[in-house]
Amino acid sequence: MTGYETDHRVATAGPEGRAAFALLRDPVLRTTAAAGALWLIAYAVTTALVADDESARRLLSGIPYLMPVLAATVVAVVAAVRLRGRQARVWRILAVSNLSWLIAEIIWVVQELWLGIEPPFPGPADFFYLPYYFLVPVVIVLSFGSASVLRQFRALLDACLLGAAFGVLDWRLLIQPQLQEGFDLAVALGVAYPLLDLVILVLLLSLGLAGHRRVPASVHLIAAATLVTAGTDMVWTYQVLAGEYTSGGWLDLGWQVQAVLLVLAAVAVLRRNERHAEVELRARDLGLVPALASTACLLVLLAVDLSRDTVEPVSAALGLFVIAGILLRLWLTARDKEQVVRALDLALKEQERLAVTDGLTGLYNRRFFEEVLRIETDRALRSGQPVSVLVMDLDHFKRVNDSHGHEAGDTVLREVARRLARAARPSDIVARYGGEEFVVLLPGTETEALREVAERVRVAVAGEPVELPGPARLRLRVTASLGGATHPTHAARVDELIRTADRALYAAKGRGRNLVCIGADGDGDAPAATAVDTAVLPLLHRLADLVDARQGPDEHGAAVARWAGVVADGLGLDRARRERVQVAARLHDIGKLAVPDAVLHKPGPLTDAEWAVMTEHAVAGAHLLEAVPGLEDVAALIRAHHERPDGYGYPDGLGAGQLPLEAAVIAVCDAWAAMRSRRANAPTRSRAEARQELAQGRGTQFDPVVVDLFLALEAAGVVGSLESPPAAASATSVRLS
Ligand code: GH3
Ligand code: MG
Ligand code: MG
Repeated sequence: MTGYETDHRVATAGPEGRAAFALLRDPVLRTTAAAGALWLIAYAVTTALVADDESARRLLSGIPYLMPVLAATVVAVVAAVRLRGRQARVWRILAVSNLSWLIAEIIWVVQELWLGIEPPFPGPADFFYLPYYFLVPVVIVLSFGSASVLRQFRALLDACLLGAAFGVLDWRLLIQPQLQEGFDLAVALGVAYPLLDLVILVLLLSLGLAGHRRVPASVHLIAAATLVTAGTDMVWTYQVLAGEYTSGGWLDLGWQVQAVLLVLAAVAVLRRNERHAEVELRARDLGLVPALASTACLLVLLAVDLSRDTVEPVSAALGLFVIAGILLRLWLTARDKEQVVRALDLALKEQERLAVTDGLTGLYNRRFFEEVLRIETDRALRSGQPVSVLVMDLDHFKRVNDSHGHEAGDTVLREVARRLARAARPSDIVARYGGEEFVVLLPGTETEALREVAERVRVAVAGEPVELPGPARLRLRVTASLGGATHPTHAARVDELIRTADRALYAAKGRGRNLVCIGADGDGDAPAATAVDTAVLPLLHRLADLVDARQGPDEHGAAVARWAGVVADGLGLDRARRERVQVAARLHDIGKLAVPDAVLHKPGPLTDAEWAVMTEHAVAGAHLLEAVPGLEDVAALIRAHHERPDGYGYPDGLGAGQLPLEAAVIAVCDAWAAMRSRRANAPTRSRAEARQELAQGRGTQFDPVVVDLFLALEAAGVVGSLESPPAAASATSVRLS
């Protein structure tokens, strides 16, 4: 039963509450408890004082006696109105029960005080006393409603077993002997009250108090009230049957205590916002008590029967019922044990899972990873098989937290973890190593396969922006750097593996991020360009060539890419950045696909509208390439290739501090190619004119360092000149330098 398991989880949530102490912390409850205690003391003292005065006793059992019962009814009604859900149902029933009790007492008082008659027993008052005994069991079952159906049924069975056993015993010993003199309803009812009390008590013990913890204070108080009532009822039955009961005696104090406890219960539930009782997985099973007690009753009955040389049908029926009940109870207990074992089993499995799982991402945690790493490396040593590890760290992740908050950061981490797990192979062990660092263990994997997996991971992380939760549905682009190492290629000793991969990661960060580096010095790094699907790059080259062909007869992108590579070398850029600037240079004008010929070829100045169309190409090109996984950084460079150090560039007006160096390189090479080529909209500049133009733009339009370097390289003849591509070449893929 699923409810059972759910409850079990709640049940293990915390320490047992100390209801009594908690009760006294609330000032209203404290005051009510004090008032109740004072009332009882006063009532007891008065009872003692009027013990010998018949009429004073009657007065005491009149209006004063009614007061707590009235109070219990009023607060129960308030609780029934104020509370919600299961508590409301419990208190509605208690309100009805208390009201019924109040009516019974009023009838009693009216008979005794006003009509001056001895209240008959059984009489009209009993009609209103009785509902209590049928409503309170419902209250108990409802109060412990989260117990499994099985346990509820078991408790009912206990109550029925004991009720039936004592009932039959009472019948045989008390009622039946009197039947010879005619059926006496007074005796029957007198026996019924304590019997019903017994049923209630057994139900309460078996279902509630033995199988629950954190039982709310109000339920404790109701239970206490029930206990007091049961005791009082039993003495009362004895006194009534013996003809000794008188109103206003000590026994009335018992019902006064019951009423005061019920008042307290209602105030407690109103004041304390109580939670439901929690089901205990392993209940204290009191099954032995009803089994023994009912068997004892049965034995007494049989002894009585045997002494009379007969077996009464009612004894035989009880015998069958007790045996069947005990058997059924055994079966129910076995089923309950089974459920407990199953729940424990599940809990154990969950604990085992949690012990090796990272809470945020659901990947394995570091402890588990290190354990598996030890086992796998041992195995690798013995078998001579290779083993690789991959370490991944998100790029600039602090910025994500800083600008979007920690929760957004966590969302990104979860999504990245998901992508990482999907990009890895089923045989790889993927774990979160710490904060925003992840590790993958690749047993039996050589460097080449490692590189493949690493690239797949890198592309998977950078490919699609991560959507953040919230109404704005912000999409955030994240990238990761990866370092890998293989034993024995990069680390002779397996305990060196992680450290070597870490160094490779460090190299990837140093080379511009969003990169894979393998081995201690990051050799054989796979820069961004090669990460792109090999089918895509030639297609993009063709598109770029088509644009260039529309601009004039001379080559453009290919030349800019060639020179950008030379300048990048001159600037000492690492291999990854050099390659990235070349790819960006090669494709930098691809956004002009969207610029119509009329604007592209227009001689002379452009109108504002035409200029707007023209300048859009930087954004359009970036937008196009952003859609290609692995070219995100290239897209950013293309967006920035018309930016200027003086901040007058477009589209973002970046200043010198924000302008990427690679974009500055493309800007200079692009300007040179434009000035030196034959184009419809501007005259071709001579070499000297073009050099002069670049020098003039030094520091304003162009990055001074790049301009200086370019001019020096050009003077040295390293930059070279434009070539007219053969007709076919312009339409086919052109290799990078
Ligand atoms: P770099 O590219 O050099 O790695 O830059 P970085 O900003 O990512 O730097 P670093 O790796 O040192 O940053 C780690 C940051 O990750 C610090 C912390 O704010 C964040 N972080 C670590 N664990 C968690 C986490 O569980 N949740 C979130 N939201 N952020 C985390
Ligand atoms: Mg980090
Ligand atoms: Mg980081």
